[in-house]
Parts: sequence; C-alpha cells; structure tokens
Amino acid sequence: MKAWIERERLDGEIADCLTLVLPTKGCSWDSCYMCNYTSESDRNATQDGIYSEFLKAVEKRDADMVKIFTSGSFFDEREVEKETREKIYRKVREKGFRRLVVESRPEFVSDEIADEILESGIDFEVGIGVETSNDDYRMKLINKGFTFQDFVEASRILRKVGRVKAYLLLKPPLLTEREAIDDILRSVEDVKPHADTISLNLMTVHSGTVVEELYLRGVYRPPWLWSAVEILKKARVDMICDPVAGGKRRGPHNCFRCDREVVGEIRKFSLTQDRSVFITDCECIERWRITIQAEELTESPVFP
Ligand code: SF4
Ligand SMILES: [Zn+2]
Repeated sequence: MKAWIERERLDGEIADCLTLVLPTKGCSWDSCYMCNYTSESDRNATQDGIYSEFLKAVEKRDADMVKIFTSGSFFDEREVEKETREKIYRKVREKGFRRLVVESRPEFVSDEIADEILESGIDFEVGIGVETSNDDYRMKLINKGFTFQDFVEASRILRKVGRVKAYLLLKPPLLTEREAIDDILRSVEDVKPHADTISLNLMTVHSGTVVEELYLRGVYRPPWLWSAVEILKKARVDMICDPVAGGKRRGPHNCFRCDREVVGEIRKFSLTQDRSVFITDCECIERWRITIQAEELTESPVFP
C-alpha cells in the first residue's frame, strides 16, 4: 500500500495530510477513458486486509488530516463495507485527525450515507470526479457514466453534513487546447455553487487506457502547463491543482526546460492561492499561444 505525507490547505492554513491508497477490489464502473486505477486494485482484497493496511499507515505517521484513495468509491459496499468504514471512523477520531477526505462516485451517495457521516462526528470532505459541467463531454469524451445533475444531487446530500470537493479534468481527448481551457472556465462557474473546493486535475496518459491509444497514434497531447496557469489566474475562485507527472512526456508539460519551475509555482499557488507566484517566463509560452490561435482557426473534429 502506498502512503505519504503531503501539504494541503485546511481551513485556510497549510497542514500535513497523510494520504494513502487502500487496495480495494477497485472501481465498479471501471470504464473512464483515462483511468487505469483498477491496475492498482486487488481482486482478492478482504475487509480485514483493508482495515489492517489502514491501521499500519495511520499508526506509523502523525498528520493533521487524512486522505484515503480507494481507486474507486469509498462508499461503494463492494469496495469498503460499512463495518470497515465504521472501524476507520473510530480510528480517525481516536487519532484526532481534523479532517477525513475520501472519494466517491455520486451513485453511492445517499441519505443513509449522509446519516453515517453525521453520526461519525468527523469533519468529512468527499471528492467527486465530475470532470466537467458539460454532459456531452463527460459522457462521450470521458465515458464517466453520470450526469451533471447526478453530481448536483449528490452534492446537495453531502453538503448538509460535510464538504464537497469537485475534481475537474483539463483536456479530455479530442478537445483542442483552447476548447479544454474554455470548458474548465465554464465548469468552474457551474460547479462553484455546489462545491467547497475545486481541484483541477491535469490529464496524464496512463497505460492501458483509451487516452493512451490516442496518444500513441499521435492524436493526443497532454495539456500544456501554461493552460493550467491561465485557468488558475483567471478563475475567480479558490482552486487547487497538483500536476501529477508534470514535466513528463505523458503528463502535463511545456517545453521540458521551464516545467520544473511552473509545476513548483502551481503547487505553491494551491497552498497559498496567491496569483503573484506565477513569475516564470519562457520562450515556449509563444509556441503555446500560437498553438491555441492556430486551433481557433480550425474547427473541432467532434464538436463544431
Ligand atoms: S469513476 Fe474514477 S476510478 Fe472509476 S473508472 Fe472513472 S476515473 Fe477511474
Ligand atoms: Zn518553456
């Protein structure tokens, strides 16, 4: 099991967050075009095994808050049963973590789950990968299998008892760089009334995915880091962004010379929300501008 400490924002402060990936049976949906999390799952995972991995991780390290990734949905009984969740809550309370962050698809959120959260007495944040507010993009380009309204409804239930983090995905396949940026800026406005935190995820090409097939055929390039910077500067809302695989060929990247600095600035911005951290200049920004302008002259192959 992977576990590490990272820095996160917690009630306006910078806090230590213990982040762990619990190997469950994996996501029930398992069909999104960019995802290969099932490869990190364990078909033979047992509930005792999941809980003992969790215990091992929390007993070893101290942190202000804890974030659990299950490579799927924390509230999916197939992955983490209620009894195991209750044991996890007891331990979270005992260790005095100030917040528990988990992830779930909307179909596993219900009034019963809201009662469970309330009874846990824990400050909860639930991340939902809504990816975009555009149903066509989410259904056809990401294959997410739920609508924006499903997200809104799950958020309504969850926000009575806790916080909601909405994940947005920069650059689903087949969108131009410009369309992808505009999609996020529009999505931020649509998602804002239904989320306490917005997290911008920058596409990374994972092996065994549809996105990888497109990438290998030369028809998909991960987003430029400059696109993320433009969004973070323009969006009039607090946003966080961790450019996973930033500066790698299969991750969000610029020219490979300025990437390290720009990734550092994006991370710094996520912790401080200070737009003045963006100071890097590089000749590749002109290439990015030209790419975007050239794309504007051509029609999108999918959504004219
Ligand atoms: S819902 Fe999440 S874990 Fe499941 S396939 Fe989609 S991105 Fe992967
Ligand atoms: Zn550069």
